[in-house]
Amino acid sequence: MEDVDCVVIGAGVVGIAIARALALAGREVIVLESAGGIGTATSSRNSEVIHAGIYYPKDSLMARFCVQGRRMLYDFCRDRGVPFRNCGKLIVATNAEEGERLAGIKARAEANGVEEMRLLTAAEATALEPKLCCTAALLSGSTGVLDSHAYMLTLQGEAEHAGAVFVFHSPITGGCVTDAGSEIAVGGADPMRLRCRLVVNAAGLHAPAVARCFAGMPRSFIPNAYYAKGSYFTLAGRPPFSRLIYPVPMPGGLGVHLTIDLGGQARFGPDVEWIDRIDYSVDPRRADGFVAAVRRYWPGLPDGALQPGYAGIRPKIVPPGAPSQDFVVQGPRTHGIPGLVHLFGIESPGLTAAIALADYVGEMVGAAAR
Ligand SMILES: Cc1cc2nc3c(=O)[nH]c(=O)nc-3n(C[C@H](O)[C@H](O)[C@H](O)COP(=O)(O)OP(=O)(O)OC[C@H]3O[C@@H](n4cnc5c(N)ncnc54)[C@H](O)[C@@H]3O)c2cc1C
Repeated sequence: MEDVDCVVIGAGVVGIAIARALALAGREVIVLESAGGIGTATSSRNSEVIHAGIYYPKDSLMARFCVQGRRMLYDFCRDRGVPFRNCGKLIVATNAEEGERLAGIKARAEANGVEEMRLLTAAEATALEPKLCCTAALLSGSTGVLDSHAYMLTLQGEAEHAGAVFVFHSPITGGCVTDAGSEIAVGGADPMRLRCRLVVNAAGLHAPAVARCFAGMPRSFIPNAYYAKGSYFTLAGRPPFSRLIYPVPMPGGLGVHLTIDLGGQARFGPDVEWIDRIDYSVDPRRADGFVAAVRRYWPGLPDGALQPGYAGIRPKIVPPGAPSQDFVVQGPRTHGIPGLVHLFGIESPGLTAAIALADYVGEMVGAAAR
């Protein structure tokens, strides 16, 4: 059996960022990924939005890591040439009741430390985006979009430069905790066992299942996994907007919003559909619901302009109808097992928050990045 200092399970954006932080702090790191490359799961099935940190409860990990992570992410992209655009976003009210909620959303954002929030009248909003139909709006100047794959590749490059090793087609199939760390079983073409001082479980949708396969890990700390699928529809042709357009959020999700990627491709989504197994297909019949939702703020959406795009799945740890759950980062202080950290429920804004989240894990295990 081989001995390794740190193993990170999962090469999504969070696992890669954690591997980078640990390697930069001088730790020996191996990243074990079941797929054939980085970022093939939730990290490449999202809106690619650099979130400002608007909606999350004050003092939650989501609020803290989104605001901190967003600032770090803009710096990271600027310094390394990762493509991004700080395009801003409008949250649009389409009736008086929604309009009344905008001030509360702004207050919550500001309590989280979000800068550049401004309430707009309908006339001010349509001066910015003439095709928009709204009764009032809230402008978030610090929201943006990025090339998420270039971001992950750059994180991976820096992790490797600092000595981290990425191993693909290497699913974790079992493990046990010992006094000296953990032993893990790695499947794939050449199954093996590794003895590790530190294991970080960043397996995304599978994180609860991976935690459960560790003999000795107390079951009471492992949440159930629930899957909330979000489908996207893409727009044929160029959108008549330059900012991201979001409706006023409803309980359960941010609503069907417009994002525009760096290539100018507009997409609407994600909606929310609770599912029992991982399935990324997009049902074309959902288009009618999208058209109705989009026309509330863009009545000019042409007939037949939406095409099925792609889907992502939120790694939920609470069932439908339950209050939203914060990120869960579980270390020895919580579950009592030395050298074992689990990340559960890392849904949005995980892409934005990844670098801040990684620093937090580094500090938790006594390996603050240099
Ligand atoms: C629809 C949608 C839209 C979103 N939009 C945004 C957004 O605009 N902005 C934002 O900031 N965030 C957004 N997010 C959230 C963001 O995408 C996620 O928080 C982030 O990608 C999670 O990264 P991760 O590394 O934790 O998980 P993942 O990307 O899922 O990576 C986990 C990895 O673990 C691997 N793995 C699983 N099991 C094993 C095993 N047994 N052994 C080895 N490897 C294993 C998987 O193959 C995978 O590569 C969105 C999420 C969704 C679902």
